[in-house]
Amino acid sequence: APHRQTVMHVRAYFDYDPSDDPFVPCRELGLAFQKGDILHVISQDDPNWWQAYRDGDEENQLLAGLVPGRILPSRVTASFSGKRWYVKKNKKPKKKSTSPLSKNTEPDEVLTYEEMSLYHQPANRKRPIALIAPTNSGHDELRRRLLAVEPDKFAVAVPHTTRSPRIHERNGREYHFVSRQGFEADLSAGKFIESGEYEKNLYGTSTDSVRHVVNSGRICLLCLHTRSLRLLRSSNLKPFVIFIAPPSQERLRTLLASERKTPKPEELKEVIEKAREMEQDFGHVFDATVVNVAPNEAFFEVRKLIEKLDTEPQWVPTSWLC
Ligand code: 5GP
Repeated sequence: APHRQTVMHVRAYFDYDPSDDPFVPCRELGLAFQKGDILHVISQDDPNWWQAYRDGDEENQLLAGLVPGRILPSRVTASFSGKRWYVKKNKKPKKKSTSPLSKNTEPDEVLTYEEMSLYHQPANRKRPIALIAPTNSGHDELRRRLLAVEPDKFAVAVPHTTRSPRIHERNGREYHFVSRQGFEADLSAGKFIESGEYEKNLYGTSTDSVRHVVNSGRICLLCLHTRSLRLLRSSNLKPFVIFIAPPSQERLRTLLASERKTPKPEELKEVIEKAREMEQDFGHVFDATVVNVAPNEAFFEVRKLIEKLDTEPQWVPTSWLC
C-alpha cells in the first residue's frame, strides 16, 4: 500500500493511554504512546484528534490511531499521568533567588508536542554529547574513558574559574581564569550552561567554550545535570542528550566500588530516586537512555550511539533548523 503523506512529525511530551481516556471518540482507535516517542502525524483534519503512527511502525500503517490534538480541552488533561505538561499559566511566580548560582529546576517549556525534523550532522560540526545523570552515578567515568580512547575525536570544553592559576596551568588550557566579577556578569548574561561553587571559587562551562570545541571538528563531551538542558537546548549547539540511568542499588554499589567509591546505602537510594525524578521531569528531551549496568557495556552503548550520529539522520526540534 502506498504510504500516506505525513503532515508533520512530533515528539510527544506526555504519556498517553487511550484506555484511560474517557474522551477519546473510540478507544479501539486510540494510539498509546509514551513521552519522548516520535509520532508521524498523517491527518489533522480533526484538530482535536489527529491520526498518527509511532516511529518504527512505518511498515504497518494499520497501527495508526487517534492521538489528542495539540489544543486539548482542559477537562481532558486531568486524565493524563503527564498532566504537568499542560499546566502552563497558573503557577505561582517563583521568588527570584539572589544567589548568582540559583538553580533553575523549572521544567522545559510546557508543550504537548514539539515538531521534529530529521537532521544529519555535518562532518565538520559534530553535535555535542550531553551525558545526563545524577551526581555520583558513574557518568564522569564514562566521559573519562571516551576521552582516553580517542583523544583526537573527543574533547571537553575548557571551563572558567575564579581561582588563581596553579604553577603549570595556562590560561585557556586547563581553565579560563577570570575574576569573580567577570564570572558573575557572564553568569547573569546566561553565558554558562552549568556552574558551581567549590571551596569559595566559582566554576562553570560556557556555551562559547563548547562552541570552540565544535568548531575545532571534535565532539564535545559534557557531563550535565538536567537543570542545564534548557539553556543548552536553546543555544543552537544541537546537543545529543544521553541519559545515563543508574542500575539497581546493588549494581550501582558495585559500579562505584570499581571507581574506589564507597557510598552509603542512603546515598545509593538518593541517586536512584534523583534519577527517577530527572526521568520524570526531563525524559521527553532525552535522545537516548543507557542503563549503566556495567562500565564496559555502558561505554560501548554510548560509543555506538555517538557513531550513529555520523551514519544516520536524527530527529531534532524543527525550531533548531530555522
Ligand atoms: P580544581 O580547582 O582542583 O581544578 O577543581 C576543583 C573542583 O572544581 C573540581 O573537583 C570540581 O568539583 C570543580 N570544577 C572543576 N571544573 C568545573 C566545571 O567546569 N564546572 C563545575 N561546576 N565545577 C567544576
